Amino acid sequence: MNDTEPCKRLREVRARIAAAAAAAGRDAAGVRLLAVSKTFAPPALAALAACGQRDFGENYLQEALAKIAALRPSHPDLRWHFIGPLQSNKTRDVAAHFDWVHSVERLSVAQRLSRQREGRAPLQVCVQVNVSGEASKSGVEPAQLDALAHAVAQLPNLRLRGLMAIPAPATTLAAQRAPLARLREQFERLRSAGLELDTLSMGMSADLEAAVLEGATLVRVGSALFGARAKPV
Ligand SMILES: *Cc1c(COP(=O)(O)O)cnc(C)c1O
Repeated sequence: MNDTEPCKRLREVRARIAAAAAAAGRDAAGVRLLAVSKTFAPPALAALAACGQRDFGENYLQEALAKIAALRPSHPDLRWHFIGPLQSNKTRDVAAHFDWVHSVERLSVAQRLSRQREGRAPLQVCVQVNVSGEASKSGVEPAQLDALAHAVAQLPNLRLRGLMAIPAPATTLAAQRAPLARLREQFERLRSAGLELDTLSMGMSADLEAAVLEGATLVRVGSALFGARAKPV
């Protein structure tokens, strides 16, 4: 057992996931852990990689590109997930350097990603959904989700894996679960309509238990793994 501080934090987060999965009657192996490393420097990521962590999530493109360049030579097996706001001027670099994108919310952006991914393994994508109404400006509105999801699923160099949401913060378990349940309903509906989705990307440090109870297959955890971030983001 590796007893560095990062490995201890990783074990604690995995234990939280395992306890929530047990409470939900789920197999914890069905919940992938994405380490959200925004604002942390490459040595912090390398320390977590040394404990066995493979999936890392980044929000800010320039910061992410520098970290990927620094870590890829020594850690070619890491998987990089882009989870931040995605405008069209960022798609070329995202298509070139990332394995996953969780924050697709416009068809024009998805089309650019697909064109720019030409000739490589498909980019794995999630559509981000606004499940918190007025409280959030990010994500496609539920009323527009079907059209967007079906169009993204047709793009040749993307593989639509599922849905992602960042609900407005809430303090009680019930209040945390409500928007996550809405995302899960949309996910199940799209699956019933024939889309082969397997990824429900929801849950962060403060609400990962609620997310696992509502069926998350991937939780995005930052501060519980790396400590508090210096700047609020
Ligand atoms: C920062 C961030 C996270 C992780 O948040 P923590 O509260 O630090 O766990 C997850 N998802 C997205 C999209 C983020 O921007």
